[in-house]
Amino acid sequence: MNFAAGLLPLDAALEQMLAQLTPITDNETIPLLQAFGRVTAQAVISPLDVPGFDNSAMDGYAVRCADVAPNVTLSIAGKAFAGQPFWGNWPAGSCVRIMTGAPIPEGCDAVVMQEETEEVDGGIRLVAGVQTGQNIRRRGEDIGKGNSVLNAGCRLSAAELPLLASLGIADISVVRKPRVAVFSTGDELQLPGQPLGAGQIYDTNRLAVHIMLEQLGCEVINLGIVRDDPTALRETFRRADSEADVVISSGGVSVGEADFTKQILDELGEISFWKLAIKPGKPFAFGRLAQSWFCGLPGNPVSAAATFYQLVQPLLTKLSGCAGSGLGPRMKVRCAQNLKKTSGRLDFQRGILRTGADGQPEVVSTGHQGSHIFSSFSQGNCFIVLERERGNVAAGEWVDVELFNHLFGG
Ligand code: AMP
Ligand code: MG
Repeated sequence: MNFAAGLLPLDAALEQMLAQLTPITDNETIPLLQAFGRVTAQAVISPLDVPGFDNSAMDGYAVRCADVAPNVTLSIAGKAFAGQPFWGNWPAGSCVRIMTGAPIPEGCDAVVMQEETEEVDGGIRLVAGVQTGQNIRRRGEDIGKGNSVLNAGCRLSAAELPLLASLGIADISVVRKPRVAVFSTGDELQLPGQPLGAGQIYDTNRLAVHIMLEQLGCEVINLGIVRDDPTALRETFRRADSEADVVISSGGVSVGEADFTKQILDELGEISFWKLAIKPGKPFAFGRLAQSWFCGLPGNPVSAAATFYQLVQPLLTKLSGCAGSGLGPRMKVRCAQNLKKTSGRLDFQRGILRTGADGQPEVVSTGHQGSHIFSSFSQGNCFIVLERERGNVAAGEWVDVELFNHLFGG
């Protein structure tokens, strides 16, 4: 085995980061329409039974099973619609025309769907058998009054918010958004939309981080591009620290080049510069400023995105009060081609999970895995996660894949 010396494993880095952090507890109450992506501050207890009353699952006829026999005609005593219950009497030998969602008339013990009846003189006849309770949605079948519907720490989406609406809840108590400051460092950086000077490149990392922060439910404080100048950097770090819970910079954390960044961070806080045993994304800094947490991403866009995804995302997820890491599920699948891999670092190669010719899932590489090939994120739909000690992968071997979550369009 050829573990690269002095490199910190990802697990150890994550453990150190997450152990220091306590989730935000401040909360606010907001309307459901504004709550997508927010995290519940408390468990939600149902104030109601859902459904609130027994109702019909079909358009058809409400019957008493005891009245049903072959060749018996049931007269129609009345109609029940959703929102317009049938309150009248329906004597033995009759039925009630009923629509989906309408309350079940008293005494009814089955609903017969329209397609299983035929109209005859004086009413209807059933053309199929009837079972007690069929096509009746029972009160409280979905959610019982007093039951816990959502736990604290649940990230709200279109799967949860309608559930809350169905309980008559209009506003929900959520954890305050983490405030996160972001800036890029580098004399070579230019804003997209501006012409490039000699040796300049466009700043991509700040956009990537800004977008991912918004998707993770953070309030973003975007401090722009900061030149490789100690005074400007010190000023920016101070401002970011005074305004944010977390400060994220990109660039200037690799060896040799970052000396004055290190010096400033030493002045302002306690920062560790790590060399992580992952690929892409070796250099990464983490620590505490006077009032905030600091994450220093590598400058290289693929490395910046990958370290944000694998390290900063779990950190922000915990800070948000959210249960879990926020990362997509991992699974073992067959790799349909040879992959290059040097042992010593945990690889996050970008892959395409697809259905193979045999109908089973398989994964292939997006191609060139260079840390400057950003298009691998848009071509891929997963990381192929290759263990640190592993070497080249031969076609047909099992590999771990981790599906991209919503940050990369998953
Ligand atoms: P650094 O970590 O500052 O040494 O940067 C490593 C590489 O990433 C260099 O090629 C930089 O030009 C490039 N880089 C740094 N910051 C950015 C950025 N915000 N957007 C795009 N590329 C960057
Ligand atoms: Mg730089």
